[in-house]
Amino acid sequence: MAMIAGVGVGGTVPVVVQSMTNTDTEDVFATSMQVAQLARAGSELVRITVNTREAAAAVPRIRDRLAQMNVEVPLIGDFHFNGHKLLTEHPECAQALAKLRINPGNVGKGARRDEQFAQLIEIACRHDKPVRIGVNWGSLDQALLARVMDENAKRPEPKDATEIMREAMVTSALESAAQAEQLGLPGNHIVLSCKVSGVQDLIAIYRELAIRSDYPLHLGLTEAGMGSKGIVASTAAMAVLLQEGIGDTIRVSLTPEPNGDRTREVIVAQEILQTMGLRAFTPLVAACPGCGRTTSTVFQELAQDIQSYVRDRMPEWRLAHVGVENMTLAVMGCVVNGPGESKHASIGISLPGTGEAPVAPVYVDGERVVTLRGENIAAEFRAIVENYVARKYPARQSS
Ligand code: SF4
Repeated sequence: MAMIAGVGVGGTVPVVVQSMTNTDTEDVFATSMQVAQLARAGSELVRITVNTREAAAAVPRIRDRLAQMNVEVPLIGDFHFNGHKLLTEHPECAQALAKLRINPGNVGKGARRDEQFAQLIEIACRHDKPVRIGVNWGSLDQALLARVMDENAKRPEPKDATEIMREAMVTSALESAAQAEQLGLPGNHIVLSCKVSGVQDLIAIYRELAIRSDYPLHLGLTEAGMGSKGIVASTAAMAVLLQEGIGDTIRVSLTPEPNGDRTREVIVAQEILQTMGLRAFTPLVAACPGCGRTTSTVFQELAQDIQSYVRDRMPEWRLAHVGVENMTLAVMGCVVNGPGESKHASIGISLPGTGEAPVAPVYVDGERVVTLRGENIAAEFRAIVENYVARKYPARQSS
């Protein structure tokens, strides 16, 4: 297991949610605000790019500003090409970070590659910082790829190009980790990742990494894309691996819509883990998809209202009530599955379908407790939820 500023990663520790900012790190205000938003949405580690001298100088100021906002989330610095220089010139940057991310394909070319990699590892050792060795297929170490291809050509039955790409990525991660250990970085200070954009590639590569190493693994599909495509591809790839016990931190690399909400990637990552039963972050709302038996939009509006309400209330509930994240809610459209599904939830409501009596029975812990009707169903249902939280989940003792 690795420790990242108090956050355990790997071993039997629950899978950790990570995210990354898309602000200019030189902009201390914008980056601090976005880190705080991501942390408040539930991101347990936040990565920021450190690409210029000004960005490196900004990192401790970002850390200070976050402290003023009572945001303690560990920051990970993402370094490419010039990381050795930036960290040498700005030791306070290394000190303010909880972890360094190094891409072995972007550390340097030729003989300088090993020299600059060694410099980065030496800095990590000096500041006692863990390192993620993050291979990315878009920036795979070309010298290593050429070597793997040469070796393949000498095989009696050479592997195809896809297999060679996968093999080169795994080799790059494992050889870089071995090199880092030889340079003095403790094994429990190393996290590996191998990011690709293809679902089957990610699954194959991480299965291989899990067989061949004990390092904690950071999972994520790179360039997953926008909207539903990005969510589906990330979920498809990560769910297979998580189900096999592979993956210690995850990030969903969604491309936000212009001016879109960056915290969406945090919510999706949490939902992957929660719907798989691996962790609980916030009460989940089950809702039926609707069909010809319910022609109004009332149940859709109520489901959306309740989901938003729960998300808005969760920061306060989480601080005040132990176990509230395990609550489940159901909003159902008609009598066919409504009562049954509602009885399985902590609190469920079955709204009237087309032609049904205009009443909405509410079930609490499987028992029908009240029937709502009229114009104020949403407000009354929210009040039932509030009452349930206060009654069911014990008050958290302040330390
Ligand atoms: S619960 Fe009723 S409205 Fe919802 S999908 Fe099933 S049959 Fe249709």
